[in-house]
Amino acid sequence: MFSTKESFDVVVVGGGPGGAMTAWAAAENGMDVLMIEKDREIGVPVRCAEGIGADVIHRYLDPDPRWISAKIEGVRLYAPSGESVEFTEEGMGYVLERRVFDRELANHAGKAGAEIRVSTCATGLEFAGDRPCGVKILTRGRESTVRCRVVIAADGVESRVARWAGIKTLIALRDLEVTTQYLLDNVVTDKGYCEFFVGRGVAPGGYAWIFPKTADTANVGIGVCGRYTRQKSSTAYLHDFIENRFPDSTPLAMVVGSVPVATTLDDIVGDGVMVVGDAAHQVNPISGGGIGTAMIAGEIAGRVCAEAIKDGDYSKKRLSKYRKEWDEAYGSHQKRVYRVKEAVSKLTDETLNATASKLRKKESPTLRD
Ligand code: FAD
Repeated sequence: MFSTKESFDVVVVGGGPGGAMTAWAAAENGMDVLMIEKDREIGVPVRCAEGIGADVIHRYLDPDPRWISAKIEGVRLYAPSGESVEFTEEGMGYVLERRVFDRELANHAGKAGAEIRVSTCATGLEFAGDRPCGVKILTRGRESTVRCRVVIAADGVESRVARWAGIKTLIALRDLEVTTQYLLDNVVTDKGYCEFFVGRGVAPGGYAWIFPKTADTANVGIGVCGRYTRQKSSTAYLHDFIENRFPDSTPLAMVVGSVPVATTLDDIVGDGVMVVGDAAHQVNPISGGGIGTAMIAGEIAGRVCAEAIKDGDYSKKRLSKYRKEWDEAYGSHQKRVYRVKEAVSKLTDETLNATASKLRKKESPTLRD
């Protein structure tokens, strides 16, 4: 369990949902896997509103009250005018308790045989020619190198591992959502609903959200398109929103972070390397949701790299099966969602208000409308 082993089939950098799913799938398919996480604790700090669709949870796990804060039966979208439209669906999704959820995924990886080292930071790659063959790590002040056949870059939106491997990870400012969120206590919300607020004054090029957690608490946050944050920060937008809506609330926790609301990187594989989750920009470009998509990508990446290693060929060409399966599973759909995001971001507040009024007149509007 606390080995000092220095050679593995696969080294996964990052213990988030993308990394844990990759480690789980690779270990389950017979690989000798090490997953490293730079933080002291898997799942902490939580940089997330914690909402997820039920379908992706049910695909991999049995829902467990230990990591589910609230069950979601619908979403409510608010136009700038304040008019709202509701979309309901029984068993639509969950608001998670991510610090427990991320540990659950890591625990599955561990039970499948993966070794997990926390407080262990990747600081660079070792190369044999152009091909990565190991990861330089720093564990509580001690430097060493772990050798491997395939490196997985699951190190989140600020991924350095993919860049070290020569993969282009640059993202345009307009495709980066800058976010701030508070976990607020003493708030009255509609427990079964996730609520979204759009409009130039609220969150230009993004939205504000209220995701219920417990009887009195909710994740209340805002994402603003990176283009607009020079004039006013996402934190300032959020403070205005909270002052208006929850003047008596108590902030219990704050997070700031960014979300890549783009399409998947052109390259998510190289010789002996694969990129997963936020690091690969595998996020829904409209909602900014990336937990489920990171899990889907991780499952594919872990399985494909195991097949490749068993065949003794983990070249870029062989690992490209991951790209193909990802595009079938979500990547092609993500491109369509991105085009919708581009169109929606150009809508004026007046058009958003008119659209909300029109949808309200429909009997049972769906998100497809
Ligand atoms: P991460 O969860 O970011 O995990 C990457 C891990 O790599 C981290 O634990 C990090 O510490 C580790 N790491 C980084 N560098 C190194 C290194 N050098 N060595 C070792 N470890 C390293 N998504 C949703 O689906 N629903 C939501 O409601 C939602 N809300 C969000 C709200 C906010 C404010 C933000 C910022 C994001 C939100 N997201 C949401 C997005 C979601 O959090 C991410 O898409 C998801 O966590 C991606 O998982 P991942 O495993 O790719 O990356």
